[in-house]
Amino acid sequence: MPPYTLLVLGLTVNLFTGFIYTVDGGYRHAGCFWMLYATAGYYVMLGLYYLFRYRKLIGTRKVIALSSIVPMMAAAIIVHALHPQFAVEMIATSLSLLLVSMTIQRPEEMIDTITGLNKFSAYTDDLKRSIANEKSFTILMLNIDGFATYQSTINYDASEKLLKDIAARIERLDSNMQARSQMYYLDGGRFRMVFSGATRDMASPLAYCLLNELKTMLSVDTLAHTLTPCICVTRCPEDAKDFETLNSLGSDFHNKAGDKNGVIHASELFKQDRFDMLNNIDAIIDRALKNRSFKVYYQPIYSVEHGRFSTAEALLRLIDDEYGFVPPDMFIPAAEKSGAIHKIGDFVLDEVCRFIASEEFRELCVDYIEINLSVAQCMHSDLADKVLQTLKKYDLTPDKINLEITETAASYGHNSMQVNLEKLSSAGVSFSLDDYGTGYSNMKRMIQLPLKIVKLDKSFVDEQSNPKMWIVLQNTVKMLKDMNMEIVVEGIETQNMADQFAALNCDFIQGYFYSKPIPQSDYVEFVRSAHSIEN
Ligand code: C2E
Ligand code: CA
Ligand code: CA
Repeated sequence: MPPYTLLVLGLTVNLFTGFIYTVDGGYRHAGCFWMLYATAGYYVMLGLYYLFRYRKLIGTRKVIALSSIVPMMAAAIIVHALHPQFAVEMIATSLSLLLVSMTIQRPEEMIDTITGLNKFSAYTDDLKRSIANEKSFTILMLNIDGFATYQSTINYDASEKLLKDIAARIERLDSNMQARSQMYYLDGGRFRMVFSGATRDMASPLAYCLLNELKTMLSVDTLAHTLTPCICVTRCPEDAKDFETLNSLGSDFHNKAGDKNGVIHASELFKQDRFDMLNNIDAIIDRALKNRSFKVYYQPIYSVEHGRFSTAEALLRLIDDEYGFVPPDMFIPAAEKSGAIHKIGDFVLDEVCRFIASEEFRELCVDYIEINLSVAQCMHSDLADKVLQTLKKYDLTPDKINLEITETAASYGHNSMQVNLEKLSSAGVSFSLDDYGTGYSNMKRMIQLPLKIVKLDKSFVDEQSNPKMWIVLQNTVKMLKDMNMEIVVEGIETQNMADQFAALNCDFIQGYFYSKPIPQSDYVEFVRSAHSIEN
């Protein structure tokens, strides 16, 4: 029997109350009062243990507030024991509870003022705690597609009213079905209901009821605006084991679902390889590093001036035994987050340099190979030394490689990145600015960095049939040329596009029109045969 139950029994059965305290002539402790202390002591120890164990989850402020109760109560108990006439324990208890409610349960931090539902911060806290405690629960995620546009184009009061109405429907359905779920409003038209225990199975039927109600309501209330409710039912831990997966699923399941206007089950969505892969990406990367299953592919780049494939870009490929081809735009960001990018980057650098030093490469008469650097690599203090050491290891001159940095990295303006770039640049290594035309172009940073080449992004090129874009392209090329930069245009898929960009004065052309990225041996064959045809 837990001590708490014993205590409650002891206090409620009047017969024994006299052993614990008396109230004749004032409140006094009786002989068995130590039982209360013993029970409290047990819970204090247990509480401190959990506070310590989940300290990261709870947060420093809350840990301090909660643990400060212990010395406060201990002091009160000592004072009370020495001076029984001062009943300070009760006051200390009240003060502690007040402190807790002021620091921990601040309503403005937890409750959304418009909908009256719990906020995103409460959602994050609750889910992380449930996951850490290995609890099972089911989440009904409701995203109103198009809400952000609606909110910014319609007057604020109308969108506020709509949110209130949706929240009211959710609460009414929950109470009609006695589901007792925890309800949250995150932001941007995203609602969540969390079902635990016996009510988990209610999530799915409730999802269909809610969807039907919302479809009618949204078509009447928002008239010309298309707002589409989309619901995803996710079971934890069966479908998603960690908060990151839940979060990434929650932000875009409505884009991934085949039927946007319906109820989907995360298990169905996870069957699609991409989600499953994303869920396991860290393990896939570890496995690839261990089994050496990363491969460097090469995409030939055509020089307009020389009429030959004078350079190439090294692009990493990962073929996993279980999942097959894993795209770099999935594993590179994950590796950046986990830190695995440094090992991956070292591998690419070493592989490329080894290839450049080989006899077969020398015979190709290719000028240099472009190597991609991620943001994390650019900012690492030992990047410059590592690159220079690898060049030395293979006895290569620095003009044999060109390092590609992205526009995003360039706009960070991090000091260690500037130091790296300057060190490498003064050693003779050249740089390209990759993906130019995406994100925001920080011209000032671009001018400050030692760049030799700018790579016009594919998205720039895709729009070239738009007359305004053509003007932008013409002027961009002119501006970059005036700055003495060389230009590579990426994503060229047709002869027509290749001709147009060559006529625009771009120096290099890269794209599927010439070749996709291919394995080293195929690349060697490709360049050999292309150049022999030429000669
Ligand atoms: P990126 O550096 O912009 O690389 C160009 C991407 O465009 C490559 O995608 C390439 O296959 C693709 N591409 C080239 N020509 C065409 C075309 O004509 N049409 C179309 N549709 N696509 C074309 P990939 O190989 O999937 O790589 C994606 C991104 O992953 C790269 O974008 C780069 O940012 C990153 N990445 C790849 N390898 C590495 C690496 O070794 N290190 C780092 N840090 N990032 C890498
Ligand atoms: Ca690139
Ligand atoms: Ca690019």
